[in-house]
Formats: sequence, structure tokens, C-alpha cells
Amino acid sequence: MGGHHAASGAAAWVAIASTGPYTLGWYPLDATGILIGGMTTAGTALVCDWDHRHSTVAHSLPPVSNVVAAGIEKLSGGHRQGTHSLLGASVFVVLAAVASQFQVSTAVGTLSVGAGVLCMLMINLAAKALKLFPKSGWISNWIFALVMAGLVTWFAPEQWSWLPLSMLAGVVVHIVGDLVTTGGVPLLWPIVIKPPKFWRKIPVLNDIWRSNGALSVPLLGRAGSKREWLVLIPVSGYAMVGLCVAAWSLAESHVPAATALLKSLVGML
Ligand SMILES: [Zn+2]
Repeated sequence: MGGHHAASGAAAWVAIASTGPYTLGWYPLDATGILIGGMTTAGTALVCDWDHRHSTVAHSLPPVSNVVAAGIEKLSGGHRQGTHSLLGASVFVVLAAVASQFQVSTAVGTLSVGAGVLCMLMINLAAKALKLFPKSGWISNWIFALVMAGLVTWFAPEQWSWLPLSMLAGVVVHIVGDLVTTGGVPLLWPIVIKPPKFWRKIPVLNDIWRSNGALSVPLLGRAGSKREWLVLIPVSGYAMVGLCVAAWSLAESHVPAATALLKSLVGML
């Protein structure tokens, strides 16, 4: 479920960059980093499914993303194999770190081209999975992604350092999401250890260490189950509140006139 992964990714980012820092001292970011990082992490929470040609990410930038999907599927041994392992997760994080190093010097200063493009791809992906603009089609997704990536470049270019962390949060959330809902994930891939014969006959345990060697903690039942929705609603609510608070404080510091107007309008009601 693409949308579910995306919402959990955004929620994880709000926890890491906003709620966490005030209570546990994790990774404090200002409003730009919370808002844009949240949207980016909603996208990075989807890249693990790039091993599947019908996934949202496979269709995100045709025909390139489709070709990449076919390539990853081959390399990683099929859907929910290599990209859903510790090794696969590390590769995604390293790629994000490498991409964020790619800069170009221009007359207006150094531009973080790699980070900007990656952020844009991820936010476009998130907008698609979350159906932010269901009626207006793909152009709105791209414009939205471009504006968001532009906001970071404009207001906080030094903040690009969070991109690899966003990738890490996204892939971890994705793998954990699949671990608790689906047929499990091969965490140690390419090493696959299958359980012995007697194990496969023990109820409950054979659902945890599965006959194909995958690990599963089926707390939420099958993907799309009622239990999954029950968890998802508060998780999405938490992400929305976190991102809206960040958006508001960003607006307050950059377009104070607009927020003052809104406040007085609310006051009149
Ligand atoms: Zn998956």
C-alpha cells in the first residue's frame, strides 16, 4: 500500500525532526526542514518497492523509472527481496548521500543540484502516492515537488545534510511496515536461511520465520487489513498536524502579513 508507507514516512520524520528533539533531543530542524523533510521522507518510504514494475515509484518518471524498476527487480532477486534487506537499505542511504554531494558552482553561488533533484523526485513520488492532487493529474505533482525543492534551496540550502537521514528513515519505515503487514522481508538478504522442516509445522512460529526464509511479525494482519487502518489513521493524523504546524511557522516567518490576515479572519468568526 503505497499511500500507507508514505504517510508512515512523513510521521517518522515529524517524530525525528520535530517531536523527538523537544522531548528526547534527536535531530532538531527548523520549520523548512520539518515540512520539506516530511514530504521527502513520505517519498523515500516508497523506494524499496522500486523492485516491482507496478509500484508507484516505478511509474514516477516514465520511461526511466520503469527501466530502473526492471533492473532493480533483476538485481535484487525479485519483489520484496534485496531492496527490503539491511544491505538494500544501506545502498539507498549511500546513494542519497552521494547524490547530496553533487554540487555545481554558478554565478549566483553553489547549487546543490543532486540534493535538489533527489528531493524533487521524492516529493513528486509522495504527492502521487498520497493523492495530494487527485483531480489535476501529474503536472500538479511535479509543480508541487519543484516548489518544495526550490523552497529549501532558497531558504535553507545548508539543510540538505538531512537527505541521507530522510532516506534512512524512509527505508526503515518501509521495511518495518512490510514486516508487520505482509509475508515478511528477507532482512539478511542475500543470505537466506530457511527454517528446518519441523519448524514449518509449528503454528504462529512458522508465520514469524517463514518457509521461504523471510522474517515477519504479522501484528497488523495482511496488507490493507482493518488493523492496519486502525494504526494508520492516528499515524497520518500525527504527520498532518506536525507538517501543518511547520508550514504555519514557515509562513509566519516569511509571509507574516498573510498569517496575520488569516488570524484576524479566524478571530472574526
Ligand atoms: Zn515493500
